[in-house]
Amino acid sequence: MILPPFSAPRDFKDALHPPNDAEGMWFIFLKDQLLISDDRKNVPLHHDFTFQRTLYLGTLGSQHLFAAEVEPETKAPCGFHWSHLRSLFSILDEEKYAIAGRSLQLIHWDRSNQFCGCCGSSTVLRKHERCRECTACGQLAYPKLSPAVMVLIRRDEKILLARGPHFPGKWYSVLAGFVDPGETLEQCVARETLEEVGIRVKNIQYFGSQPWPFSYSLMIGFTCEWLEGEIQIDPLELEAADWFSASDLPELPPKISLAHMLIDSYLNSQS
Ligand SMILES: [Zn+2]
Repeated sequence: MILPPFSAPRDFKDALHPPNDAEGMWFIFLKDQLLISDDRKNVPLHHDFTFQRTLYLGTLGSQHLFAAEVEPETKAPCGFHWSHLRSLFSILDEEKYAIAGRSLQLIHWDRSNQFCGCCGSSTVLRKHERCRECTACGQLAYPKLSPAVMVLIRRDEKILLARGPHFPGKWYSVLAGFVDPGETLEQCVARETLEEVGIRVKNIQYFGSQPWPFSYSLMIGFTCEWLEGEIQIDPLELEAADWFSASDLPELPPKISLAHMLIDSYLNSQS
């Protein structure tokens, strides 16, 4: 399988502490918007900002990588502008795009763990691992991910696609849902398909995974086959669901997503 967007670049090495006077690429965020050159190809190599937070990420080849967050209302310097990551897909090169996704998640983690979730005291960054530690009770806060499954269900030559109430345009996609505590990924696939569309599935197979920085998630894709039941949607989760063949697919999610790769795998098997 081709690596999906946001996968760690091959030459990337994670590290916590930059060498003295390290220079390199800066992934600077204003909330969830990245500072990008006006031609949308580059991130800055220097800056004059005062940051709310700065994180060293490691190296990409010989380049040092930094993530940082500016104060609200900060203006972009001449030749640069703020841009949402989604709109930079396939414009910014894959390696920078992946580092930008990682930066966004780590900045969010650092911002939301300045105080201990147990006792409310302030936290500090641990020296030897990417983790914030409470100065009073010692509680540790690692960067958190919320795993979610995506599932492509086949019934003969058709696949099940569904529409959530908040999907843009007329998109249909594969079913997806967050993993519950105490549940295996396969159990999550079986539960989500039963809850959302009222069908039972068999032959659940791992397909691939994708970091998804917009919801601090890791998407884990599966394929499976229909076993029994007819579509009965959960109206709180979905507004429509149906079986589609390769020749009459509805509008699909963008290529950035694992959902699209799952659907592509079905199309390739049909051609
Ligand atoms: Zn504490």
